[in-house]
Amino acid sequence: MRILITGGAGFLGSHLCDRFLTEDHTVIAMDNLITGKTANIEHLAGRDDFLFIKHDVTNYIYVEGPLDAVLHFASPASPIDYLEYPIPTLKVGALGTHKALGLAKEKKARFLLASTSEIYGDPLIHPQPEEYWGNVNPIGPRGVYDEAKRFAEAMTMAYHRYHNLDTRIVRIFNTYGPRMRLNDGRVVPNFIGQALRGDPLTVYGDGSRTRAFCFVDDLIDGIYRLLLSTEVQPVNIGNPNEMTILEFAQKVIEITSSSSEITFVKPTDERIKDDPKVRRPDIGKARRILNWEPKISIDEGLRKTVEYFRTSV
Ligand code: UDP
Repeated sequence: MRILITGGAGFLGSHLCDRFLTEDHTVIAMDNLITGKTANIEHLAGRDDFLFIKHDVTNYIYVEGPLDAVLHFASPASPIDYLEYPIPTLKVGALGTHKALGLAKEKKARFLLASTSEIYGDPLIHPQPEEYWGNVNPIGPRGVYDEAKRFAEAMTMAYHRYHNLDTRIVRIFNTYGPRMRLNDGRVVPNFIGQALRGDPLTVYGDGSRTRAFCFVDDLIDGIYRLLLSTEVQPVNIGNPNEMTILEFAQKVIEITSSSSEITFVKPTDERIKDDPKVRRPDIGKARRILNWEPKISIDEGLRKTVEYFRTSV
């Protein structure tokens, strides 16, 4: 296949580039580099089966030649990025999805949308199955991401129904691993950076909020299988191993053998407004139709991630 990956220089996009190239496909990565980094793909430079195009997919997308698949992964993806880039976040989820869908239609390519567990908002059903419609605040700081992704799902289904486009929607739950930005503000890089420096780990609130963290290689495998499947309806991909943020802080301290302490802080900015109290994917559907489940334990995944932050940052 010849594949376009928007957000191809980002955390997930760059891992997708690697996976598709490993499977002998040809990859075109597109990114405007506001949160992506060329360092994530520089090891691919010079290959004749790989091309990088710096472009903001909010604007008309031109790609020469045929395409078999368009994977739309461009978007800021951490709460502090949404605060810094609220309008680009809305635009890439809405206008960018429209452009990427239009390109897929033109090229008669399959389209895969990177959606998110954020579409479930602060969930009232736990764990979250794909049938749940969510509990989202449209006007809070996270609304720019959540609503853009909800719109993106609606747009994708409209292209499927109205234009018969062959589409896929993956709802991605918290994912971590090498190539996350140390300063992206999310809990995994924050805690690992703090632990490696010996600084206190900043647990927001009382640490009782929960998340379930998926190692990036597992997630990429789920996405790969979804693209090759025939499932048009959304599929959750994530690791159901749920823990409190306090437990996660203790785990990071253990894995890094750090002498850091844990401090409970109340951020002064809007960072934790509408912060979901719990989150855990119901992956029954992925197990059933993709024969997929995560394989990498939190200990193993964290060790690999810590190694990356130690050596590459
Ligand atoms: N969090 C924290 N300390 C930090 C960063 C985040 O306690 O330094 C908490 C945050 O309040 C949330 C959870 O960790 O409950 C996950 O936050 P993250 O920003 O990683 O992603 P989210 O799942 O909220 O999109």
